[in-house]
Amino acid sequence: MAVQMPALPYAQDALEGFLSASTLSFHYGKHLKNYVDTTNKLIAGTADESKSLTDIIKTAKGPLFNNAAQVFNHQFYFESISPKGTSVPPEVLAIIEHSFGSLDEFLSKFKAAAAGNFGSGWTWLVKKGGILSIVSTSNAGCPITDGFTPLLTVDVWEHAYYLDYQNRRADYLAKFCEHINWSKVAERLI
Ligand code: MN
Repeated sequence: MAVQMPALPYAQDALEGFLSASTLSFHYGKHLKNYVDTTNKLIAGTADESKSLTDIIKTAKGPLFNNAAQVFNHQFYFESISPKGTSVPPEVLAIIEHSFGSLDEFLSKFKAAAAGNFGSGWTWLVKKGGILSIVSTSNAGCPITDGFTPLLTVDVWEHAYYLDYQNRRADYLAKFCEHINWSKVAERLI
């Protein structure tokens, strides 16, 4: 079965003020579509065609890993953000406080990790063994290959923010933190 183009959970102009419709049209409509199309070309007629996307990511190397992981990572990212700020559910707040001390401390560490993630990559909030941590990956790296349960991710490839923020990655990260879909984080925690 072919990998499907993930649905965008809001209109392309719904994030204006954080991310423009122009950014979404390229990031979702061109970059993500290209990763989906390339994954499908690479798995056509192979045993990977019958695997789930996450099973492909856990076993593939090289171009197939890169493209399949980018499909997963982008769907995860677009579902991590919301047109409006959302409140942090109590069960999420409790585990964040347990792991980082406070919500502010987590956000500060998350932004610092993402700002310092050199080059192209992703910064993640992940869970393993009942505790949360922050990990950064390079290129298409995805923490499910290391046994983590991902809860939240920010895309720090320049294509994610350059049209709106140019080189000001810190400004993009500040706005990202105001648009986290905390309800989705809560769903992923279970
Ligand atoms: Mn991207």
